[in-house]
Amino acid sequence: MTLKRNVRSRFVRFIGKKLREDRTTLQVYSRDMSDLPSLVSIFFKNIPDGVILASSVEDIQTIYSIANETKTPITQRAAGTAGLGGSVTYNGGLVVDTKGFEQKFFFDPLEQTVTINPSYVFSDLQRELKLQGLSLCSYPSSYHSATIGGWIAHGGHGIGSAQYGGALEQIVELEVVLPTGHLVKYTERDHISLFVGSHGTLGTITEVTLRVKFDIPLKHQGCTFDSPEELVKGLGEIATTFPHSVWFLNPKHVESFNETFGYNLPNRYVAIISKEVSFEEEEMEFNRLFNNAIRNAGGQILDRRYTEDIWKFRFRSLSMLKHCSDYVVSEVILPIESSDKYIRKLISKFKGNIHLEGEFISPTHYALLIYVLSEEKMSSLKKTLLNLKLFKLSLKSKKVKGYPYSTGLWFSGFYGQIYGKDELRRYKEFKKSVDPKNISNPGKVLSPKFRFFPIVSLKFVVKLASRFML
Ligand SMILES: Cc1cc2nc3c(=O)[nH]c(=O)nc-3n(C[C@H](O)[C@H](O)[C@H](O)COP(=O)(O)OP(=O)(O)OC[C@H]3O[C@@H](n4cnc5c(N)ncnc54)[C@H](O)[C@@H]3O)c2cc1C
Repeated sequence: MTLKRNVRSRFVRFIGKKLREDRTTLQVYSRDMSDLPSLVSIFFKNIPDGVILASSVEDIQTIYSIANETKTPITQRAAGTAGLGGSVTYNGGLVVDTKGFEQKFFFDPLEQTVTINPSYVFSDLQRELKLQGLSLCSYPSSYHSATIGGWIAHGGHGIGSAQYGGALEQIVELEVVLPTGHLVKYTERDHISLFVGSHGTLGTITEVTLRVKFDIPLKHQGCTFDSPEELVKGLGEIATTFPHSVWFLNPKHVESFNETFGYNLPNRYVAIISKEVSFEEEEMEFNRLFNNAIRNAGGQILDRRYTEDIWKFRFRSLSMLKHCSDYVVSEVILPIESSDKYIRKLISKFKGNIHLEGEFISPTHYALLIYVLSEEKMSSLKKTLLNLKLFKLSLKSKKVKGYPYSTGLWFSGFYGQIYGKDELRRYKEFKKSVDPKNISNPGKVLSPKFRFFPIVSLKFVVKLASRFML
C-alpha cells in the first residue's frame, strides 16, 4: 500500500517535520540486521511509505489515533539490530522510530530498580549503573547498539540470563501505549509477559522499570571439546556450576575468531564460562566445580590467559563477518540435553561450512546463532534458497524440543511453539481487544495472509517453499 494523499496530509498536519519520506531513509528502514535478498519483495512490501521519528508518549498516541482512523499499519523500530524482520513492514505503512524518545533515568536505591525510556542503549545504561556500583542483570551481545524497548519486544535473553533470566524476569513495570491510544502501566507478570516477544503488535513500550543488581566481579574459565556430543555433555556438566554466562563457538567459528582477532585457539568447540565471584573462597569453589565438570565431560581446560581475553570479544561477533561478502543467519533455542543430534544435522547439511555461536539463556537451554557465510556476493535466487533452507532447518529443531528464538516476521505463526498454546490463546484474546483493526505491527507474531493469494498464510507459503530445499 502507498499512503493516500488525505492520509498523508493528516499525518503531516499532526506530526509535521517528524515524518521522513526521502528514498534513502525509506531504504535504510526497509531491512533490519538480516540482509534480505531482493526476491523477498515478492512475499512482502518491506519499503515503508514513511518513517516517523517519535519522541514522546503524545506522539505515539497521535500516531495511533490517525492510524486507527485511516487504517494505516504502524511498525515500531528501535535500533534495528534484531534479525527476524520484526521492525520491517510487511505491507508498507509507517515505521515509527522510537530511538529519539525523551531520555529518562530514575534510579530507586531502595527497590534496586531503574526507570528508563525504551530507547536507552544497553551500554549507556550499564555505564550509568556502574557509577552507582550496580549492573544490568542480563543484556544482549548487541549491547553497544540495541535498545531496552527493542529487546523486550523481541523477547530477549542474553549474557547473564543463565543466572538472572531474560527480559521478562527483569521487568518490574512496563508502560505501554495501546493501539487504542490508552496509556497503561503494567506490574503483573501475566500482563507483562504478553508484551515480551510481542514485537509491538500489542502496543508501543514507552517506559520500563528494570530490576538491577550489585556489580559483582566476574571470573572466567575456558574449555574445549572435540565433538558435538562431547560439547553437549560438557554444557550439561557446566550448568551444574551455576554459571552467570556460558558462551561457545563451533570449530568453524573459532577459525574465523582466530583469523579476525589474531588468536591461535585450538580448532575445537570452545566455551567460555563466567561466574559472579565476591570472595576468594567462592572463586576456589568455582574452579573446583569447573575442573570436575570438564573432567567428567572429557573436555580440556583452556589456559586462563586466553579466557580473560576472549571474554572481551563477546560483543564483537559481527566483526568476524567482515571477511565474508555475504551471509544468511538464523537463531534457535535448544535444550542442552539431546541437542547434539541437531548440531550434527546442521553441520552435515552445510558440509561443515557453518558457523555456530551459543549462549545459555537458562540452566537448561541455550540460544544458538547459525551463520552461513559466503566469500562472494550471492545472487538473489541463491540467497533466497539458502534462507529457506536455514528456515527449514530452524524448524527442524522441534525434533529435539527446540524452537525459533522469536517470531518477528520470518517466524510469524510460531508463537505457540515458542510460548505454548495457552499463552497463544491469551495473546490472541488480548490482541483482539486492543487492536481490532490490526494496525500495530501487522504481519508479525501471527502469520499474515500471503499478499498475492490471500486465502493462504505467509507461514504456509514459506513452509511449502522451504520443503523443497533439503
Ligand atoms: C551481533 C548481535 C548480537 C545479538 N545478540 C543478542 C542476544 O544476545 N540476545 C538477544 O535477545 N538478542 C540479540 N540480538 C538481537 C537484537 O540485537 C536484540 O534483540 C535487540 O535487543 C533488539 O533491540 P533493537 O533496539 O535493535 O530492536 P529492533 O530490532 O529495532 O526491534 C525489535 C522488535 O521490537 C519492536 N520494537 C522496537 N521498539 C519497540 C517499542 N518501543 N515498543 C514496542 N515494540 C518495539 C520492533 O517492531 C521489532 O519487532 C543480537 C543481534 C546482533 C546483531
